[in-house]
Amino acid sequence: MDPFDVVIIGSGYGGSITAARLAEAGMAVLLLERGPRMETADLRQTDDPKYIQQVIDLVVTSGNVAFRTGNMVGGASIPMDGAHFRMPEKSYTPTDDSGRPYWPAELSKASLAPYFDAVEEMMSIRQFPWTEIPKAGGMFAMMLDRVGASCDRARLNYTDCLQCGFCSTGCIYDKKRTMLHTYIPLAEANGAEVRANCDVRTVTPGGQGYIVSYLRDGVLEEVSAVRVIVAAGGIHSPAVLLRSASNLPDLSPHVGENFNNNGEHAFVGILPPDFADLDAFHCYKGMDNAGLMSWHWFDDEGFTLHPGAGLEPTVFAAALAAADHPVLPSRAWGMEYKRFVEEVYPHRVIGFSALGLADGHRAVTLDNDGNPDLEDRPSPAHDAYLDRLESIVLDIGDQTGVALMPSVPRKLSGTTSAHLLSACRIAETPEDGVVDVDCQVHNYENLYVCDASSVPYSLGVNPALTISALAERTAARILEVG
Ligand SMILES: Cc1cc2nc3c(=O)[nH]c(=O)nc-3n(C[C@H](O)[C@H](O)[C@H](O)COP(=O)(O)OP(=O)(O)OC[C@H]3O[C@@H](n4cnc5c(N)ncnc54)[C@H](O)[C@@H]3O)c2cc1C
Ligand code: SF4
Repeated sequence: MDPFDVVIIGSGYGGSITAARLAEAGMAVLLLERGPRMETADLRQTDDPKYIQQVIDLVVTSGNVAFRTGNMVGGASIPMDGAHFRMPEKSYTPTDDSGRPYWPAELSKASLAPYFDAVEEMMSIRQFPWTEIPKAGGMFAMMLDRVGASCDRARLNYTDCLQCGFCSTGCIYDKKRTMLHTYIPLAEANGAEVRANCDVRTVTPGGQGYIVSYLRDGVLEEVSAVRVIVAAGGIHSPAVLLRSASNLPDLSPHVGENFNNNGEHAFVGILPPDFADLDAFHCYKGMDNAGLMSWHWFDDEGFTLHPGAGLEPTVFAAALAAADHPVLPSRAWGMEYKRFVEEVYPHRVIGFSALGLADGHRAVTLDNDGNPDLEDRPSPAHDAYLDRLESIVLDIGDQTGVALMPSVPRKLSGTTSAHLLSACRIAETPEDGVVDVDCQVHNYENLYVCDASSVPYSLGVNPALTISALAERTAARILEVG
């Protein structure tokens, strides 16, 4: 008999946090992670796609849309950009077409507060002082100020940041608090085993409760435990359940459905030559998150805006290739394009993203090899959200003289998104969602899904802190129920 009380699949926010809390309470925990274990000394600052794909798994769908997920011990806490916001009150309120609230009443701002507190303390999350905001944030704030909109300083898990601009390849200076600095050592100090390079294929009822089958070095191995927590991230958790569906016939039909990229839509802008003291501004410098955000449109329109920094030439070129604006050259190659880039990069380029309360518009499915794909699920509500968002942002451009454009065509909205929510969403019944308020899979006692995929709806702010608070709560509920 395997000696584990709980097997956890995936070591990102959902997996590491539950592992730490359950191990701390005395449970025998095994954490299975498909990727390798890399310490700070293994991280690099590079644009080398081979290295980047070690750190970030790019799930490219059959429609050529790419989504980024974690791919190593610690999950996406290693490459993420550090923004950690609590859900505001309004994010608990959206309802579906029948008027059913996406967030069950038990999960409220007040009831989740202690779990948010615990994560913020563990991850050293703090509001950045103005003195540490990169210039890209300053340019963004100046642009919004010209339309009467304010900005707030962001809340991040960085300390003594050197503003080198390579957050998304992992911080080689150890300035970002990840799962490898916090919950994973806590889990290991309490006896949890972290097994890297183990790619879970299926979960089947049996053994002490469930049998988890995984590939290690191409060999299929099995482990059994009373409880299993699937925490393989927003795309791979539904994929694990879909691969296991013949063994778990009473799963909700919502597995894989409702995939929601948090209303994310990215914009790029070219500042006019007389905008400000542009010589002192280099768009590629600073943290990937430019340290600010704007709530200005949140109450009325349901979206927030977030400036980025560290805009590398390759990213800028990709954005321009997709963008459509009269100031841009007609094609993203050739002499006209080269001269344009020489003129505007790096002093006149800004980038930012919107995150919003918007419906999902994709579904996680499986390809013939059992790997995840994402299918379009056309959504008039999502289209209406994008219409409104684009018209407001383009209007900011008209008012400020900044040539603003979406950096991807509408059809590809959310392309390269790393906010992968809701494909195993929480709901009170299996008719509406995959897991209950405690993240336990409907109809399957002691089987849980606890990660980005359990978040029931878009948040309008970056999701890591909410995923973490739900993971703290899930562990607490498992311990309460016994
Ligand atoms: C570049 C980047 C920047 C980001 N910036 C921010 C930000 O600033 N703020 C914010 O809130 N969010 C940000 N995010 C998103 C945030 O990191 C994710 O929402 C969060 O990490 C999700 O946590 P998770 O536990 O659901 O999944 P993950 O962190 O993705 O962890 C899932 C883990 O499961 C493993 N896994 C997958 N399949 C299997 C399998 N079959 N068997 C075993 N293991 C498996 C993966 O390798 C991974 O380690 C960013 C993400 C990226 C990639
Ligand atoms: S910008 Fe700061 S947090 Fe990001 S990689 Fe550099 S030192 Fe680390």
